[in-house]
Amino acid sequence: MKRIKVNLDKQSATSYEICIGHNILDRIGLVIAKSNLARHYIVITDSNVSSLYREELLTALKNVNLNVDLIEFPAGEISKNTDTVLTIIKKLINLGADRNSALIALGGGVTGDMTGFIASIYMRSIPYIQIPTTLMAQVDSSIGGKTGIDLPEGKNLLGAFFQPKSVFIDLQFLKTLPDEEFKNGLSEIVKYGIIDDMELFNILERETENIKNRSMDLLELMVERSCKIKRGIVEIDEMDMGVRRILNFGHTIGHAIEAESGYMIPHGNAVSIGMIASARISEKLNYLSSEDRNRIEHLIRSIDLPDHVPTSISMEGMLSKIRTDKKKKGDSVHFVLLKKIGVPFINGSVKEAIIRETIEELRK
Ligand code: ADP
Ligand code: ZN
Repeated sequence: MKRIKVNLDKQSATSYEICIGHNILDRIGLVIAKSNLARHYIVITDSNVSSLYREELLTALKNVNLNVDLIEFPAGEISKNTDTVLTIIKKLINLGADRNSALIALGGGVTGDMTGFIASIYMRSIPYIQIPTTLMAQVDSSIGGKTGIDLPEGKNLLGAFFQPKSVFIDLQFLKTLPDEEFKNGLSEIVKYGIIDDMELFNILERETENIKNRSMDLLELMVERSCKIKRGIVEIDEMDMGVRRILNFGHTIGHAIEAESGYMIPHGNAVSIGMIASARISEKLNYLSSEDRNRIEHLIRSIDLPDHVPTSISMEGMLSKIRTDKKKKGDSVHFVLLKKIGVPFINGSVKEAIIRETIEELRK
């Protein structure tokens, strides 16, 4: 099991470790037992992950004499709302959860975001642990302490920065992950290569077949490098006020595509198209070479991530979503652009005409 330390403040009160390995549920049990974090643990998980992994995890935790309960909610983003939060909170009260209890999020981003949020508000906050089971959660959402739920008015509108006590990443979970979910996470890994790690990018280019086969060794390498990159950025900018924005590479246009599709296009797919658009904009503005732009597009296509915007998605709708983003942040859209692979920067003055032209090129 590899351990990556996340150092968040000088007193180290909110620092924690990310542990990565294969088949490590027993080890996870031991580490939790040794940590003495709580007297009572409540696993929170969705219906799919529960049927796949509840027995294995509960057995591992009970084998080290932990006092454990489990709360299950229906799988899907649709559950990430105030109703589910209140339902889970009432179950916590019925189970006698108090300030000596800790939550364990077992699942994808929905479970992690919602469990972290509940931990941040239940009895004025109790500790929680992340055990992410999707590739997306393993490389992105479980690290960094962003928690939250959706409101009818929009996604992630209610939430808090609240750091987990530890993150345990077992790569075995990825074996049962549906293809669509796998691709979602892959897109964020490509993003890390593009914004921070030329060597990771080179590996991805070389290993497209092993990526598709989900080779365990390669998964370990990709997940570990991705976690280290995210860790590095979150350590500098825990509250998302500055450099953490480079993690939004491909996301300004990606979010517009995602939202305008009524969330029918999954996040990773939308980001993959957004990354191509951002690379093209970087080239048009003479920052990025056509060679690097080509490599990015080629990699995305060769691992079967999408490269175009379906014509069913309204151009005006997308542009207006991008404009709304812009109003929130001042006058201009803060785009993450590239000077080369591994060298991103924030550009505050991308003209709408260029965005429009680029999206137009990518529509088919
Ligand atoms: P994301 O991490 O992409 O936000 P979600 O929490 O929405 O993911 O989970 C996506 C879907 O994948 C859900 O239906 C969830 O139940 C399912 N899922 C999560 N982990 C696994 C796994 N290891 N194997 C199979 N299905 C999983
Ligand atoms: Zn993302």
